[in-house]
Amino acid sequence: MTTELNTKTAAELADLLASGQVSSLEITQACLDRTTVVDGLVHAYLHVDADGALATARSIDERRAAGESLPVLAGVPIAVKDVMTTRGLPTTCGSKILHGWIPPYDATVVAQIKAAGMPILGKTNMDEFAMGSSTEHSAYGPTRNPWDLERIPGGSGGGSSAVLASFQAPLATGTDTGGSIRQPAAVTGTVGTKPTYGGVSRYGLVALASSLDQAGPCARTVLDTALLHEVMGGHDPMDSTSIDAPVPAVVEAARRADVAGMRIGIVRELTGEGFQAGVQQRFDEAVQHLVDAGAQVVEVSCPNFVYALAAYYLILPSEASSNLAKFDAMRYGLRVFPEGIDEPTAEQVMAATREAGFGDEVKRRIILGTYALSSGYYDAYYGSAQKVRRLIADDFARAFEQADVLVSPTAPTTAFRFGDKIDDPMAMYLNDIATIPANLAGVPGMSLPSGVAPEDGLPVGFQILAPATQDDRLYAVGAALEARLLDAWGAPILGQAPDLTAATVTGA
Ligand code: GLN
Repeated sequence: MTTELNTKTAAELADLLASGQVSSLEITQACLDRTTVVDGLVHAYLHVDADGALATARSIDERRAAGESLPVLAGVPIAVKDVMTTRGLPTTCGSKILHGWIPPYDATVVAQIKAAGMPILGKTNMDEFAMGSSTEHSAYGPTRNPWDLERIPGGSGGGSSAVLASFQAPLATGTDTGGSIRQPAAVTGTVGTKPTYGGVSRYGLVALASSLDQAGPCARTVLDTALLHEVMGGHDPMDSTSIDAPVPAVVEAARRADVAGMRIGIVRELTGEGFQAGVQQRFDEAVQHLVDAGAQVVEVSCPNFVYALAAYYLILPSEASSNLAKFDAMRYGLRVFPEGIDEPTAEQVMAATREAGFGDEVKRRIILGTYALSSGYYDAYYGSAQKVRRLIADDFARAFEQADVLVSPTAPTTAFRFGDKIDDPMAMYLNDIATIPANLAGVPGMSLPSGVAPEDGLPVGFQILAPATQDDRLYAVGAALEARLLDAWGAPILGQAPDLTAATVTGA
């Protein structure tokens, strides 16, 4: 399988395209063929746009043949998370309430991808409105982890991580509000970055929690992730929180892959107790690799991180309950008329539509958020959570005085089985214990694979966090670690994943 075009990295494909050895049409067709073979099992896509992808590929091939100088990733295909609006293509956010909605505009990141000449293969599955850590909350059924089809691919961006891990696309987009890029990357042996808040435009992302949401790149290697980060990053006048500064030099950092003299801070509160033994073991080994590469290790303490989850689950539902108020049966997608009422009022139609259109997790968070924001409780809940958020940002500031980057395991465990946590929201929420602090403080974070756990043979994620706007540090450290791990494991970690062509499932 290794010689097939769908298994190559985006950087390799860009070189092959630039030197005229392959066409974008061949690459795009190879990815679509792979989807035909495996996606009946994996269910990474909610919508495949073969015609659109092939049309873009053909036009890029023609422009290249005509001698036009093209962007680096022109002709390299990509999958887009279904939370991003795509003009003329369905955008459901994994929800029934948006079933049938065709957006009239592109999200800025989608426009950037199109301007870069990248064929869009389709829209990837996700937990409904990006709420979850497993894709089990998708209204269209879960995505399966290519490493073990009875296990979750992470969430909310499990479609994007699975599309990469099953070699259906070399690149994908994600959004990370509390870990939805990094945790899926961790449990599928892929790479994902949550950029600095404001580093990538939020315009055209269906909002979950506006002060936490951040779009970012997903890929199979650190360099590929950096290449996509450069496409997606940059100032956007359509997003008032967009940073008006050049994109950090992430590709250069990934190519340099240098950690000599860098101070790596291990966050005491994000290791040890509560982390699966094999996850901790691979984390410790990865730290040793960084020391061997010339980095210095320090231990830092972020005492307020223990309150991160509690603050997040007040701030997120509060913002989500406001953002989701617009799904009122009048403007988008679904409209349900209540049974047994001849002339229902607008309010009755709204209630029936929201009852039928939202899943349990979404309703749970709307109720929680509405309660937390209600008069009399606002200060006690939302107000207190915002104060905790400040303390967490202060913890980061102090830690970054002692270290250039902070590191931890990305998730406490490897991929869990379908059904294990779906009925226990608290257990599901605890999966994000290591990723949430970065969203609360707006700092950038990356997850990359650090091997497979000895006890279950499943991938383990290594998380790197950097100060705001210093996203390039993630790539310098990530690429240095990736190179060492490649030596240690003798092949990319994803090389150990099953091929899937002969796989069957017993049902999730
Ligand atoms: N799993 C987290 C949640 O359920 C994170 C979601 C996200 O990053 N979109 O909120």
